[in-house]
Amino acid sequence: MAEEKKAPAKPAKKVKGYVAHRMCPKCGSGVRLAEHKDRRSCGKCGYFEKK
Ligand SMILES: [Zn+2]
Repeated sequence: MAEEKKAPAKPAKKVKGYVAHRMCPKCGSGVRLAEHKDRRSCGKCGYFEKK
């Protein structure tokens, strides 16, 4: 199988800024809070906090 070497024009995934995810205070470290527009929430225990 011939390997064609053409430069892939796919843009590198840009990481939007750097979001340091907060850990859930209830579940402990390892469980990150999901980032929302105006709040962060834990998908595990339901904890959320306003921004
Ligand atoms: Zn939690």
